[in-house]
Amino acid sequence: MIDNYFKEFVLDEEIQETLQNIATKNGIKIIDVDDVKSNVPDTTWPSIKAIMMNFNFSTKVSYNFRLAHELSHLLYGDTSLQDVYRFCEFGKRGEELLAHKNAVKMLMKIKQPTSVETFMNFYDVPSWLEEYVEAEYSLLS
Ligand SMILES: [Zn+2]
Repeated sequence: MIDNYFKEFVLDEEIQETLQNIATKNGIKIIDVDDVKSNVPDTTWPSIKAIMMNFNFSTKVSYNFRLAHELSHLLYGDTSLQDVYRFCEFGKRGEELLAHKNAVKMLMKIKQPTSVETFMNFYDVPSWLEEYVEAEYSLLS
């Protein structure tokens, strides 16, 4: 149990570092905040290429999945559509769905999961996205 926990913790840190490197390479600034309320979602401003990640945000979705989602808006989205993006795990349309799908793709590239379930659990991916995770996973094998 302890070994597994440690492994997951280390992996978590590694993935976070990789995401941070992707941001740096693309001139994206990540601002981590822990002094705003839990109802304030992670927010991305395309005009200044900045992402605010709220450590207190009340969501089950993991930090790394949320960060990959926000990065995806700036890297693969149409940033001319909106001035600001706010994380919503139930964003099932347009740019939000696209960012969710690209987050899955990005994270699978960083570390290939052993199964769909492992991926879903490790990142606490919203369950409605499972079909997209399955589709992406099937492209790997
Ligand atoms: Zn979004």
